[in-house]
Amino acid sequence: MDTIFHKIIRREIPADIVFEDDHLIAFRDIAPQAPVHVLFVPKTDVATLNDLTPDQAVVVGRLAHAAAEYAKREGFAEDGYRIVMNCNGHGGQTVFQIHLHLLAGAPLGRFGT
Ligand code: 5GP
Repeated sequence: MDTIFHKIIRREIPADIVFEDDHLIAFRDIAPQAPVHVLFVPKTDVATLNDLTPDQAVVVGRLAHAAAEYAKREGFAEDGYRIVMNCNGHGGQTVFQIHLHLLAGAPLGRFGT
C-alpha cells in the first residue's frame, strides 16, 4: 500500500505532525472541518475498516486511545470532541489507509444534522 499517508509517515511530504509512536502517527488535516482536526493513522497497512482482521482490532483501539490522550493533553477532553472513521464511497473515504478523524474546538452539533 502506498497512500499519501504512507508518504507522510516516511516524511516524503510535509505534515504538521502532533504525535507519533511505534504504532501510529497523528497530524493536522490539510482541510480542517473544525478548529481542531487531527488524523490518527496506524503504521499497520489496512485499506478500509472492512479489511480489518480480528487480530488487527487493537489497531483501531490504539487510534481511539491516542486521540483521547491527545484531547486530554491539549485540554479539550472535558469540553468534548468527536471521532469519525469513514469507510468506502458512501462513508466518504478518500484515502485508503484507515484513519481516525478527531474533531474538536467548538460545539459540533448533532451528528447528521
Ligand atoms: P477521508 O475522507 O478518507 O476519511 O479523510 C481523508 C482526509 O485526509 C481528508 O480530511 C483530507 O482533508 C485529508 N488529507 C488528504 N490529503 C492530505 C495531505 O496531503 N495532508 C494532510 N495533512 N491531510 C490530507
